[in-house]
Amino acid sequence: MTKLLLMGPPGAGKGTQAVGLAERIGGVHISTGDIFRANVAEGTPLGVKAKRYMDAGQYVPDEVTNAMVRDRLAHDDAQSFVLDGYPRTLDQVETLDGILADLGTELDAVVVLTVDHEELIARLLKRAETSGRSDDTEEVIRGRQDVYVAETAPLLPVYRERGLLREVDGVGSIGEVAARINDAIGL
Ligand code: AMP
Repeated sequence: MTKLLLMGPPGAGKGTQAVGLAERIGGVHISTGDIFRANVAEGTPLGVKAKRYMDAGQYVPDEVTNAMVRDRLAHDDAQSFVLDGYPRTLDQVETLDGILADLGTELDAVVVLTVDHEELIARLLKRAETSGRSDDTEEVIRGRQDVYVAETAPLLPVYRERGLLREVDGVGSIGEVAARINDAIGL
């Protein structure tokens, strides 16, 4: 059983890598962004709550996000997982610690993809041409990078101190980055 976090700024390729990594460990890919988008698409009460934050490129409030992740991690299929896009705040780190402690388990590693800031903006603008995502405008894209720096970058030292952080260069082909991730976590 392997429990991993995959972190990195918006545009670092987290989603793509998380899908492949989950397959390699025989676990599930849990993306809070995907779960929110599915709820928005279905018009559920959770989706209605989340939508205005997502459209503005802001984080959905912790209490909403935390409850959703607690539910998801309690499912039987979540013995091995790659968590993608969570935690993103220090409050979420504490909540995740509590959820995993309640389940009698802990994280094996936290992989962070590193990519240069301007490279990221360029990638996201390119994705915006085809994604149809309502949070893919230039202003929102820049704002999301700022939110990452302010709210999520501070999580990295926390996991570094715990000896869990594995920094991986996120620039390269999908296969190259996947191979680096495997090396970093000893797969
Ligand atoms: P993502 O696809 O991971 O970039 O997430 C898209 C959007 O969903 C984010 O910009 C946030 O509005 C929301 N979101 C996803 N994960 C979280 C989280 N852990 N905490 C708060 N908001 C989140």
